[in-house]
Amino acid sequence: MGVIRKTKAVEVLLDEFNASAVAISAKKLIEQLGTKFNKTTIYRVLDKLEDDGILHSFLGKEGHKWYAKCNGCTASEHSDLHPHFQCLSCGKVDCLSVSVALPKLPNRKIEFSQLLIQGKCEECLV
Ligand SMILES: [Zn+2]
Ligand SMILES: [Zn+2]
Ligand SMILES: [Zn+2]
Repeated sequence: MGVIRKTKAVEVLLDEFNASAVAISAKKLIEQLGTKFNKTTIYRVLDKLEDDGILHSFLGKEGHKWYAKCNGCTASEHSDLHPHFQCLSCGKVDCLSVSVALPKLPNRKIEFSQLLIQGKCEECLV
């Protein structure tokens, strides 16, 4: 398991994720933290946290990259096979703790799969 150097940027980014129950887009992190750290630093820290099995990334609407905390992943393997849900009204994105059965593909090995479900979240439904 890789050792994360606790730089200021790592600390601040981890705080953002610990304070949030939902996923955060790279774009939003840059908007929020861009005055403290430059874009390259933010992307590098996100990459590193993903490599270390702390965050996982996926693509949201319009190809934006989103990050969310992992649950039980390690530096050698990510086990985030869950789908993600993006609310089309408020834009919130979160991890769904349901499992999706992947089709068995003869002669192919699935390394990665991503499913983005879009609709209305519980708050926007009422
Ligand atoms: Zn993971
Ligand atoms: Zn919503
Ligand atoms: Zn997730």
